[in-house]
Amino acid sequence: MKIKNYINGAYQKPLSNDWLDNYDPSVGEVYGQIPNSNSHDVEEATAFAKAAFPAWSSTTLEERSRILLKIAEGIEAQLEKLAEAESRDNGKPISLATTVDIPRAASNFRFFANAITQFASESHESTGTNTINFTLRKPIGVVGCISPWNLPLYLFTWKIAPAIAAGNCIIAKPSEVTPMTAYLLGEICTNAGLPAGVLNIVHGLGNTTGKAILEHPDIKAISFTGGTKTGEHIARTCAPMFKKLSLELGGKNPNLIFADCNYEEMLSTTLRSSFANQGQICLCGSRIFVERSIYAKFKRDFISRVEELVVAHPAQENANLGALVSKSHLEKVEDYIKHAEDYGGKILSGGKRVNVDGYEKGYYLQPTVIEVSNNHCRLNQEEIFGPIVTIMPFDKDDEALRLANGTKYGLSATVWTQNLDRAMRLGNTLEAGIVWINTWMNRDLRTPFGGVKASGVGREGGFEALRFFTEAKNVCIKYN
Ligand code: NAD
Repeated sequence: MKIKNYINGAYQKPLSNDWLDNYDPSVGEVYGQIPNSNSHDVEEATAFAKAAFPAWSSTTLEERSRILLKIAEGIEAQLEKLAEAESRDNGKPISLATTVDIPRAASNFRFFANAITQFASESHESTGTNTINFTLRKPIGVVGCISPWNLPLYLFTWKIAPAIAAGNCIIAKPSEVTPMTAYLLGEICTNAGLPAGVLNIVHGLGNTTGKAILEHPDIKAISFTGGTKTGEHIARTCAPMFKKLSLELGGKNPNLIFADCNYEEMLSTTLRSSFANQGQICLCGSRIFVERSIYAKFKRDFISRVEELVVAHPAQENANLGALVSKSHLEKVEDYIKHAEDYGGKILSGGKRVNVDGYEKGYYLQPTVIEVSNNHCRLNQEEIFGPIVTIMPFDKDDEALRLANGTKYGLSATVWTQNLDRAMRLGNTLEAGIVWINTWMNRDLRTPFGGVKASGVGREGGFEALRFFTEAKNVCIKYN
């Protein structure tokens, strides 16, 4: 099947007629083609977006909200179809796509449909000088949204929904590895009554389509989620044009387990935070640190639970892990396994490819637990983004904090303890944009989301996203 670009409300082929293969990772075979759009496609899409902007930015909030709700309903009405497409494109278990990814895409639209109607701005009255200042929140114009492959529709809509709600027009590029659900979204938006040109979806590679988006002078802001290296490149490219940037980047998140935790809950959540979506979630807790007094017990119990996990074809209902997203990603992850000893670790469990009957060419890997003896090793410093976690003991709170903060990343951190003082202390001092205490991936859409250090710049989520997708303009009036 051939996926097309969605430009000015209609599907069309890439102007160059240049196509890329799209793989089904569960079978390791090509099942479709996508455009490799170039600067001419982006140019055309941007011209339509620019033309649509004056009308869209002056629609009432109620009208925008109504359309966003319709898009949410459109996604919900096609839940099964979208979940199947997501699972096939990405390799994630269908159960995950059905219960998490696609419902969340609908929630993104529903949330911002409401949030935009509550988005208030400030005013400041200065009595001595008889002035009043008030802030207008103006849509930016045409904005670029670039998203990764791990949570395809979930993250794509996490950007698009607030951008549209705030009155912008969009040039959006999903990952070339998982284009399918973004493609299907185009039609849902048309059916929901989104005016042509407000959302334009161009498919293709980072260094062709992505590059054209970054370099287009009429695209005034870029919201990017993806790898830290790509984020660096985007920051360098956009800085001379003074584009507004939101960068949601990689992570190497610590999971701190104290002896006083609620053990059973910690164990089952840690299993999930380690291997959900084959460990390919930026928020996965890939470095597990355990208080020494329970380290041996944890190691035994955790490994026994890990070895019960089912790696299977993603369409199989009981699959805990499906396939990794691509051959090149599988090989990258496997490299850490092959060199585990050189990279500072000892494999305790897993570490092998899985031969799934009937799908021998699929990209399946066992969930893998590696014990490390220090935090400086490559296994603990580099983002692997696959079904690999490291474990290591610690003795004191201060040491746990030092280990947790001891990477260049700072996206999220998880703490397991019943001690409120410790929880508060760590909540305050962990270098991360998000700290979870006694839970993981518990997301309230009103809360700010993003990382510190090499995990990103800026925040999205809730009103933060609406702030990003608008420019604040202060108006000062003097009266007599
Ligand atoms: P990636 O950086 O390779 O690609 C992300 C997107 O950027 C894709 O659409 C890609 O085509 C595009 N891109 C690549 N090079 C580009 C360039 N030169 N110019 C413009 N666009 C370009 O990341 P990925 O492999 O798709 O995703 C995995 C990464 O994403 C991991 O590092 C993960 O931690 C990160 N991630 C972060 C978050 C977060 O919220 N912080 C969420 C999910 C994933």
